[in-house]
Amino acid sequence: MKLASLLLSVAIGASAFAQNAKSPSVSKSTTEQRTASYMQSVRNQPPALREFLYRMPKGGDLHNHLTGAVYAESFIQWGASGRLCVNIATLTFVAPKQIAGEPACEDKTQRPAADALRDPALYAALIDAFSMRNHSPARKPGEYQFFDSFLKFDAAAKPHFGEMLAEVAHRAALQNEHYLELIYSLDGGVAWALADKTPWHSDADLAGYRQRLLDAGLGEATVKGRAMLDEAEAISRQQLKCGTPTPDPGCDVQVRYIFQVLRAFNKERVFAQTAAGFELAKADKRVVAINFVQPEDWLVPMRDYDLHMRMIDYLHKESPQVNITLHAGELTLGQVPPEELGLHIPRAIDTGHAQRIGHGTDVMYYADADNLLKEMAKKRIAVEISFSSSDGILGIRGAQHPFRRYMQAGVPVVIATDDEGVARSDITHEYQRAVEEQGVSYAELKRISRDSLEYSFLPGQSLWADALKFKFVSACAKKASAGCSEFLQANEKAREQWKLEQRFAEFEGKQ
Ligand SMILES: [Zn+2]
Repeated sequence: MKLASLLLSVAIGASAFAQNAKSPSVSKSTTEQRTASYMQSVRNQPPALREFLYRMPKGGDLHNHLTGAVYAESFIQWGASGRLCVNIATLTFVAPKQIAGEPACEDKTQRPAADALRDPALYAALIDAFSMRNHSPARKPGEYQFFDSFLKFDAAAKPHFGEMLAEVAHRAALQNEHYLELIYSLDGGVAWALADKTPWHSDADLAGYRQRLLDAGLGEATVKGRAMLDEAEAISRQQLKCGTPTPDPGCDVQVRYIFQVLRAFNKERVFAQTAAGFELAKADKRVVAINFVQPEDWLVPMRDYDLHMRMIDYLHKESPQVNITLHAGELTLGQVPPEELGLHIPRAIDTGHAQRIGHGTDVMYYADADNLLKEMAKKRIAVEISFSSSDGILGIRGAQHPFRRYMQAGVPVVIATDDEGVARSDITHEYQRAVEEQGVSYAELKRISRDSLEYSFLPGQSLWADALKFKFVSACAKKASAGCSEFLQANEKAREQWKLEQRFAEFEGKQ
């Protein structure tokens, strides 16, 4: 943004603040209190609460797996247009065979994906297979249904990175959310290919393995990753009509990426992906962090957890500027032996240098949970909480969720979607579950929304001199000033936070 237009937007923001304001502090609290009272009045009326929360400014979604965020209906369209086949027994998209140069599905075991657009039963069955819709844990554990769905729609997702971006940005914008950190594989398959032909010598020789990968061409993963992002962002902008007279609101959503490492594979592959993630994050500022994904209770993630943390520790020491967020403690009683519970969060922090924790549902199983929570609060390590996901995958909901423990301990909490498409949810619904199941107040929700930018991996300084009390930095204490404009111009994080404050002023001003 040019300085002149930024000044203008500061002025507009200030006027939104000023509208409420002969004496800013009194009027601000009045509009905020009025908004809080309204939410209180509808908290037991789900449709009215939904309408309120849909409009409420929500800042960012910091834990959003891109393929899991897309709704099954889109995958079916792309499966049909890509002439994929459906394996009828497993309801999985597969590539067609080529017969005389034409794509063709097997006669007895497959149907063309396009059939789903003519056959409502197949259409419905595919949506159910690709998501948690109509899922019954009596038929199949939620965890299996959840994670199996990714394998079923994967063939339709891969070629549509740009379209997926457009879908999630559009949906975020409609719900007054303007920042996304999307978790995705961004190495173009290079890391695995190199890992598969580069022998592992010793767990103690991570430096040697990294060097052998670099010598074998790991840099190519960065080239491919950047090209993937360029292409997908161009497609997304085109789909959203950005830069035209009728842009989609999704054009205003800032998108950054988190490089995902699939952790359920052999150590060569896990290390190669992690090393590739660090390289890409250093080379391209659109990629703001790395994260480890895939179910934490599976064999390899449990068995190799400490080795995985040591891999990150080594790469972090080489490149400390790369941000780290980790799925850790996404576990519950019965999934793994009880003595294995509670251990991953402290290890993610101490050895894996995690700046944020994904889910953290098993925190209270740690032997010294109170001190762990205190440490997280002190170090400002945010926990990314997704109610629908924890319910669907782990069966944890309501009072069983440690959400309140985190809040009481002063650990920064952000509400995220995780996989809104698979869960058939959206960010508004996750906020709604916080109100309905956790008894969250408007003031708490507002803090959560602000924290979703405060603990984002956007570069630059925060808008807050004190993020606990939400006290503005001195440059912006007098709101519409040239000094504030310069500060916002220089600090991307503060700029997005400023936008959120403008949105709150507007939202609360209308209540
Ligand atoms: Zn996740």
